[in-house]
Parts: sequence; C-alpha cells; structure tokens
Amino acid sequence: MTTNQPVLHGLHHVTAVTAKAQANLDFYTKTLGMRLVKKTVNQDDVSAYHLFYADAIGSAGSDLTFFDWAQTRPVKIGAGTVSETGLRVLGGEASLEQWGKWFDQQKVAHSSIETLSDRPTLAFQDGEGQHLRLIAETGSATEVHPWHGSPVPISAAIVGLGSVSLTVDNVDATSNFLTDVLGFSNNESDSVLFETGPGGTGAQLRLHGSTQRGQDGAGGVHHVAWRVADSRELLDWQTHLESHGYRTSGQVERHYFKSLYFRIPGGILFEIATDGPGFAADGEDPEHLGEILALPPFLEPHRAAIEAGIKPLNYQPSTTSKS
Ligand code: ZN
Repeated sequence: MTTNQPVLHGLHHVTAVTAKAQANLDFYTKTLGMRLVKKTVNQDDVSAYHLFYADAIGSAGSDLTFFDWAQTRPVKIGAGTVSETGLRVLGGEASLEQWGKWFDQQKVAHSSIETLSDRPTLAFQDGEGQHLRLIAETGSATEVHPWHGSPVPISAAIVGLGSVSLTVDNVDATSNFLTDVLGFSNNESDSVLFETGPGGTGAQLRLHGSTQRGQDGAGGVHHVAWRVADSRELLDWQTHLESHGYRTSGQVERHYFKSLYFRIPGGILFEIATDGPGFAADGEDPEHLGEILALPPFLEPHRAAIEAGIKPLNYQPSTTSKS
C-alpha cells in the first residue's frame, strides 16, 4: 500500500438490471417501501428508464438503482458477478421477524433468519430473482432517514445499502486488489469480509470464489459504486488506479454526482462516485422526487422525443401526511 492511499467512504449506490420496469417499481416502492427518488433515463441509452430507490432524502449510500432493459436475458450468478446486495434495517432480529411476516403475506421468497458476520440477516428475492438480504443493525444508528412509505413499522424500515457479495474465479487476485489498491481491510476472523472507510455494514463487501462463470443480466447487478466526498478525491483515485496500471473511464459527469468506472480483477464493474450534488441538482422539489421524468440539462432539449420513446409507468407516491 502506498503512503498516499486514497480512501473509499463506504457504499454509494448499487445499480442492477430489470426487464420488468413496472413490476420492479411496484416491488421496491410497495413491497420494500423504499422511496422512488428519481425516475430518469439511462444517460447512455435514453430509451431505457433509470429508476433510483433510496431513503427519504436520497442519501448517498442508500440508493439501489435499476436500468430497465426489457430485452436482457436473465442473470447467471457465478464468477464475475455481484451475487447479493444487502439492505440495512434497524432494530435487530425483531425487525427481521416483522419483515418475514410481511414477505409471507406478499408471497416473497425468503430464508429464515441467519447470522452473518455477527448480524442477523434475512435473504430474499424480488420477482426476477434478484438476490437481496436484509441486514439488521443491533445498535442504534446515528443518522438515518427512513421513508414513511415503509410497509413495516418505520423502526424496521430500510435505511440504506449493506454489504454486497462478489463472486470471482480467483479469490486471491481480487482480494489482493481490494486490500493493496483499493485500501480495504480484510477481517481476520471472518476471511470473506472486507471493510473500507468508516467500516460497518454500509462499508462492507463479502468475497466468494466459484469456478462457474456467471453472466450479467436481468435480476442481477450491473455495478457497485463507492463513495468519495468530492471531485478532488475522485481525481486522486483516478491517478492512483492509473498509476497501478488499471484503466479507468476518466471522470464522467452524471449530473447527480461525478463518477469514475473501472473493472476489478475478476471482471466486476466498480464505480467511485461523489456524494454531491445529489438528487435535487435538477431542481426537483424534495417533496415530489421521482414523480416526473427527470432529465439532466443536456437531455432536456430532447424531452419530447425521450418521453415518446419510453413506456409510461404507473406510480402512486405514498402521501407525506402521515408521520
Ligand atoms: Zn452507477
């Protein structure tokens, strides 16, 4: 590790793929009660929605986002894929019991409560087989912004992303990259667990090996993004990665944040993204996030054509009248 090792401050967002945008919207906003904080289009393919689900204020570290690619074949989980995405809840095991009952009512496939890295967890899948896991914090978290649309009591609501699981063919090669280049620490007593920045559930990943090659697709994850504070830190990362011989995308203006993309050994796409400026950057009213199609300024002149090229989505935001 070099002396100028830059630091990743935890998970920023996870972007996954859906082939069924309407069912996806219903599942994440109604079944999981996350807030649709942005409905926009894929900036590289404006015929596809890009849907962002997060906490009440769209905090960095709480976004699970989806590209809507109706023609994509289903994911094959295996080496080279993100094999599971964690979602943090508060309230310990009691919260997971509430979620388990709700999932039973909603016919959502789920595991029994199991302990992973000293935390109670509950694995489940969305309608396309996306591998998800609720991870319960047992202590009290400092700053959380649960959305009042939660179908379980707000004390058990989803408050952010948790540990993601990566599956690769050569665990040692990926592990060395994580620790030596990205600055993760590897837990001594739990060898699959890696932590960055402040540590804790929102800054963790789990690394698994498989000889079975996987393939990205619908019901799978497209990339995992990690937090930095600002574009100066992002530039430090670009310099750092390129000085170690890794190719990057260079800085990309995503309007809601700035990004840098690169593939890690094992083939998974990583992104580093700035915390700001955030989802209010397009001037959308914080009370009404996600209700209209939001476009970054460079796409705004093409709004009529873009709106004509995407299918309408039926979305009833939960009202803010109850607290
Ligand atoms: Zn991203």
